[in-house]
Amino acid sequence: MKKKKALIFGITGQDGAYLSKFLLKKNYKVFGVKRRSSIINTQRIDDIYKDINLKSNFVIFYGDLTDTSSILNLIKKTKPNEIYNLAAQSHVQVSFEVPEYSADVNGLGTLRILEAIKSLKLEKKIKFYQAGTSEMFGKTKEKFQNEKTHFYPASPYGVSKSFAHAITVNYRDAYNIFACNGILFNHESPIRGETFVTKKIIQGLIRIKNGNQKKLFLGNLYSRRDWGHAKDYVEVMWKMLQQKKPDDYVIGTGKNYTIKEFVNKAAKKIGFKIKWVGKGIK
Ligand code: NAP
Repeated sequence: MKKKKALIFGITGQDGAYLSKFLLKKNYKVFGVKRRSSIINTQRIDDIYKDINLKSNFVIFYGDLTDTSSILNLIKKTKPNEIYNLAAQSHVQVSFEVPEYSADVNGLGTLRILEAIKSLKLEKKIKFYQAGTSEMFGKTKEKFQNEKTHFYPASPYGVSKSFAHAITVNYRDAYNIFACNGILFNHESPIRGETFVTKKIIQGLIRIKNGNQKKLFLGNLYSRRDWGHAKDYVEVMWKMLQQKKPDDYVIGTGKNYTIKEFVNKAAKKIGFKIKWVGKGIK
């Protein structure tokens, strides 16, 4: 049987790394897209090259979601069965500092992929996954969110992802592309980026335990998050593309915790007692 081919934008990120290993184990040929960087940015996928069976089915190309011609050429060259768009300026706070860039990569980047599928006349051949986020719900008043909940994004990141969501639905309706939106709540792992709060907390606690740091500064300790594991969530992305019909899905664990609860649990696991200092600590 012919191997299935997947093209992953955002291969160097947390989810890109987990998804590529998941698909390689499912016997896919995996093509990844990385952008040029001044230092090596493939640490999360370097272990694939150590496995002779995996590496023969793994090919990385340069490309960028802001560059239409690279997207078009990569899709034309690889002719994948499935495309996963995981590439993004994925940091909420940073999106306030680079709003236009975030909109370009996250919003227009998604449109560029969909338009490339259409202009290459591959609408019937390629299934498309778009990495949406619970940040699109933002300031919604609904306590429990589902696929019908209206978006009320509260950051340029959330707004850019809402555009990506809507354009994915539009290309599915208008051109019959098998396109799915995953609306994923937070998902973490040991390879989560260092600027995200879970990693910041773990690294800070370890440094404090080892005597290399005295304090860890955090923002709102009482904001709540639903945290899953990236390994489970990439499997769900794949499952969406294996359904009979394309659709949109909200994915979460259904449980949420405060940042303070996360810190306390992590400190217990690491094996030391912390002292809380600051205003309004309950
Ligand atoms: P991540 O670790 O930040 O990875 C983002 C990836 O996108 C990296 O490979 C990055 O490349 C790449 N990228 C950034 N700008 C690009 C551009 N202009 N062109 C091409 N590639 C570009 O994010 P993640 O945690 O794996 O998340 C994957 C996707 O799911 C993202 O779209 C994110 O917004 C979304 N999401 C994540 C979560 C979560 O909790 N993790 C929740 C909901 C949705 P570099 O390595 O070069 O930076």
